[in-house]
Amino acid sequence: MEGAVVTAYAWPADARAALCVTFDLDAESPYIWRTRADPPADVAELEQRRYGPRRGVEHLLAVLDRTATPATFFVPGWVATQHRNAVRDVVAAGHELALHGWCHEPPDQLTPDELRATLRRARDVIGDLAGRAPRGYRSPSWRMTPTALDVLAELGLAYDSSLMGDDRPYDVGGLVEIPVDWTTDDAVHYRYTGHGERAPVAPQLVVDSWRDELAGARDHGALVMLTMHPWISGRPARAHRLEQLLHEAHGLDDLWIGTAGALADHHTDLPHSAQRTRVARDEIGRPDDDR
Ligand SMILES: [Zn+2]
Repeated sequence: MEGAVVTAYAWPADARAALCVTFDLDAESPYIWRTRADPPADVAELEQRRYGPRRGVEHLLAVLDRTATPATFFVPGWVATQHRNAVRDVVAAGHELALHGWCHEPPDQLTPDELRATLRRARDVIGDLAGRAPRGYRSPSWRMTPTALDVLAELGLAYDSSLMGDDRPYDVGGLVEIPVDWTTDDAVHYRYTGHGERAPVAPQLVVDSWRDELAGARDHGALVMLTMHPWISGRPARAHRLEQLLHEAHGLDDLWIGTAGALADHHTDLPHSAQRTRVARDEIGRPDDDR
């Protein structure tokens, strides 16, 4: 019997799989956006979220430093103006900054003009702090529309990291997509604000499940995209388990570990035949077999 057709993705450094470590530095911006019609009054949620820039970033930067792990931080522009020192610390540690709206507005709640204006404003603030223009975007709440993709391409961004249509980098609407996955988002497992959510899962169990994600990715030649939030994963026990996982990951010689921007650059440089999935702008609404 003939073997299966080899469709392995050409990862950087001839690796079998890849790991991106990313943080969405939301702080209190989602709450500010959600309560914009009424002045924010819930000091408890504001303070819980401010733990991110106040303490979480410091703990997580220590983990990244001790494991020599480069990371991407998606930062709303407003957060960069409110928590300048935390963002400066991220930049000083050499990590990538990328866009995450102005005040965490999901793009499907803005007109194209509003999206353009918020991202231009955010790009200026983030660019000033980073000393270079941000090249990537992650949509707040992982919402996306065809016109939002147009605006991202028009702004000259190199990549988006908000969609789940593949487990390897792919092309959507003229942008490189560095895909995400709810399973490897910390909020699904840990987020708890005392409003009747399910109790947070123990860090050991979460990191065990992410260990399985790494094993599966190495079996199947896929990307593991960790999406974490400093106000959530910056808590000491969670940071402690993350550090164990990163130490183990660096011991795997078939795993490439790098930033979303580095992976987007790699994907852009690949010959087209090696790029597996392409969804052109006018094909976004159609199933693959109809193209
Ligand atoms: Zn966010």
